[in-house]
Amino acid sequence: VTSFSGQRVFVFGLGGSGLATALALIAGGAHVTAWDDGEKGREAAHAAGVPVADLREQDWHGVDALVLSPGVPLTHPEPHWSVYLARAAGVEIIGDIELFVRERRSIAPDAPFIAITGTNGKSTTTVLIAHILREAGYDVQLGGNIGTAILSLEPPSPARVHVVECSSFQIDLTPTLDPTVGIHLNLTPDHIDRHGSMELYAAIKERLVAASGTAIIGVDDGWSAAIAERVAAAGRHVVPVSVRQTLATGFSVLGDKILRDGVAVADLAGIGSLRGRHNAQNAAAAFAAVTAIGVSDADAARGLATFPGLAHRMEAVGRAGNVLFVNDSKATNADAAAKALGSFDRIFWIVGGRPKEGGIASLTEYFPKIIHAYLIGESSPDFARTLDGVVPYTLSGTLDQAVVEAARAAGGDGAGEAVVLLSPACASYDQFPNFEVRGNRFREAVQALPQVQTDLR
Ligand code: ADP
Repeated sequence: VTSFSGQRVFVFGLGGSGLATALALIAGGAHVTAWDDGEKGREAAHAAGVPVADLREQDWHGVDALVLSPGVPLTHPEPHWSVYLARAAGVEIIGDIELFVRERRSIAPDAPFIAITGTNGKSTTTVLIAHILREAGYDVQLGGNIGTAILSLEPPSPARVHVVECSSFQIDLTPTLDPTVGIHLNLTPDHIDRHGSMELYAAIKERLVAASGTAIIGVDDGWSAAIAERVAAAGRHVVPVSVRQTLATGFSVLGDKILRDGVAVADLAGIGSLRGRHNAQNAAAAFAAVTAIGVSDADAARGLATFPGLAHRMEAVGRAGNVLFVNDSKATNADAAAKALGSFDRIFWIVGGRPKEGGIASLTEYFPKIIHAYLIGESSPDFARTLDGVVPYTLSGTLDQAVVEAARAAGGDGAGEAVVLLSPACASYDQFPNFEVRGNRFREAVQALPQVQTDLR
């Protein structure tokens, strides 16, 4: 990236994206110094030929920019104090997405750039948009907060679309963010600890859509509806999205149908990877985004229908007769598990792990749909107390044991369609390194069952 050619830039945070940033800046002719509190990051930088020096001893005069990793907690004493000193010395504080948007403006200002934010659904919507575009024959680069660091992607060019997921931390570090299409899905309290207040959190999210060519905004929560009003009042092209009401102008979801200005344009019925109201919002927003850059309605609808879904988020991993096996390992709290439980009937539920505050007590409205629960992990005694007398359960202990027991019960009950659902409502750390390993283990255990079909297309 050439925006700091000949200038001095300090890069703080040397995880994957920080190192990619330092190298991209050096390749573009900047004089770079980098630092990470962790020795591993410093060693990687050193090995890659990036000069390393302590952030705390930096003289900020004469430095043009400080590039921060989005993972850096600004509220901690370090680098907060250094950031404060740098700002006082007139140093610009930015992130890697800001470097990308400047590069795009200088080398390919008309190249389509789709940016996605919101409290929930960012990854699903981002991957779904990239999928539809690829199926429609576009050259697509996907990255940002998901997958590849943005400066490790192929550079902007007129015939290439960048689809970029943005966390609020990244938006905060991108002062001139100006996507062709910006999407803000929804806003619920999250990360308030880091942003200080809901007002501040909302203001950061608003910045992504405020400078978009087309602003696609979910209007089903009050905070986001207010954002849509302000952005429209400022003269931007706003496309509202609702799954709660039929909008005369904008996108709505009625039953399984996606409507544009009240007219049906796509059908979500039977698309397993997009089950649930929350995914209807993601699908409608994705449809609005791709058609805004010229994809036909037919191609957009076809892309929705062939979406394989994201791993570990209500991912169908196998079927045996009437029984569908679903991996929702990403559901690490009760709220996320509620979305999965709400999306199925006749559930054989594998639940547990390291419990979160409140356990599964908030999920009682779904208990009538649960035929049997299989308890795994540390939370078992607590969850057993919650289920006692309401939902039959088995203390399975391990995930492997739970899969075998649930599959046998679901296959043998002969009462029709059923789902064996791993939606643990817990962190995985008592038994697994992370939710991905837990989900992969579930998939392997399902594949090891007799007579399971895994090609579900
Ligand atoms: P993010 O990237 O914003 O964390 P994901 O697409 O990874 O979001 O989805 C994570 C979880 O959030 C899903 O498993 C589901 O429970 C929930 N979710 C997804 N989309 C939405 C939505 N539009 N509204 C509310 N919750 C959602």
